[in-house]
Amino acid sequence: MLGVGLDFGSRTLGRYEIPEPVRTAPGHVLLRVLEAGVCGTDRELSRFRFGVPPAGEEILILGHEALCEVVEPGGGLANGDLVAPLIRRSCQPACRSCARGRRDLCLTGSYTERGIVGLHGYFTEFAVDDASDLLPVPGALADVAVLLEPLSVVEKAVQAGLAAHPGEPETALVQGAGPIGILTTLVLLQRGLQVVVWSAESSDDPRVRLLCEAGARYTAGAPPASDLVFEATGASAPARAAFERLNPLGVLVLIGACDFPTEFPGVRMVVANQTVLGVVNGARQHFEQGAADLMKIDRRFLSGMIARRKWSELPETILSVPAEPKVVHVAGA
Ligand SMILES: [Zn+2]
Ligand SMILES: [Zn+2]
Repeated sequence: MLGVGLDFGSRTLGRYEIPEPVRTAPGHVLLRVLEAGVCGTDRELSRFRFGVPPAGEEILILGHEALCEVVEPGGGLANGDLVAPLIRRSCQPACRSCARGRRDLCLTGSYTERGIVGLHGYFTEFAVDDASDLLPVPGALADVAVLLEPLSVVEKAVQAGLAAHPGEPETALVQGAGPIGILTTLVLLQRGLQVVVWSAESSDDPRVRLLCEAGARYTAGAPPASDLVFEATGASAPARAAFERLNPLGVLVLIGACDFPTEFPGVRMVVANQTVLGVVNGARQHFEQGAADLMKIDRRFLSGMIARRKWSELPETILSVPAEPKVVHVAGA
C-alpha cells in the first residue's frame, strides 16, 4: 500500500510503498484510514527536525491525527466502528507512568509515537492497532472526530491549568490562533471562562471571526493580564512575554514548544503564587474528555476550522502553510 512520508536516506518527502499491516495479537484491529489531519508537527517533521523511522527502515509514514473504520474486528470492536487512534505507545520495559496507562507522562522518553517516532502513521490506507489504543467514536461525531488528537493535548492543558490555579480563575488569555489556540479557546469557553485570544491575524481574518462568534475577544495589540495564560504560538517572543501577562496566582501553560532565553521572574512568581507548566501528548482520559466536549461545542465553530482536501494533495499541505486552521485529507477522494 502507498503512504506519504519521509525517506531518511535521501531526506525527501514523498509517496512510498510499504507492506500492508497484519494482525499478530488477539486485541489487534485492522483499520481503514478514512481521513487524516495535518499539523505543524508534520511540517517540522518534513524539515527533518525530529522524527525516527521504524527500527531497521529508512521510511517513516507520517500522520498522527486520524479517523479510521474497523475492517477486521478485535478487542470488543466490530466491523464498521469508527475509532480515533491514541498516538503514543509505551516505552519498553514500561516506566512507572507507562505501566499505569499514562504514556503521555513517560519518564524515560523512550516511547514510540505513530507517525512521529519509530512507528508508521496514518497517511496511508490501512493500520493495525491494539483495541486498547483506540477511542471508539460515536457516529454523531464523524465529521469532527479528526480533531480528537490535537484536542486531547488541549484537554490536558486546560485540565492542568485549572488544577494548578490555587484560586478561582475567571479570565484566560490564549496566545496563538492556530488549531491548538482555537480548540483551547473553545474548551475554555465551555468551562465558563472569559477568553481573550492574542494573535497576529487581522480582525477580518475568518479564524478571528470564528473565535469572536464563539464568544471570545480578539486582540492583535497588548493583551490583558489573565488568571490563565495558554501559550500556543510556539514562538519565543510571545512565550517570553507571557510571563508578564499573568495575574497574581496566575498559571502559564506552555503548549507550543520552543526554547527562549529569558530572565526567569523568580521573585515575582514566588510573591504572586504563580505557576508555569508544560504539557505534551494526551492520554485516553483526555481523548474521552475531548469527545465529550465535541458533543457540546457548537458544530459551526468546529466545522469552521476544517478544510477537506483530496488525499492526493497531502504532500502539498505538509509542505505549505495553509490559510485554513485544520486541513484534513479524505481517503479515496
Ligand atoms: Zn498534530
Ligand atoms: Zn515510559
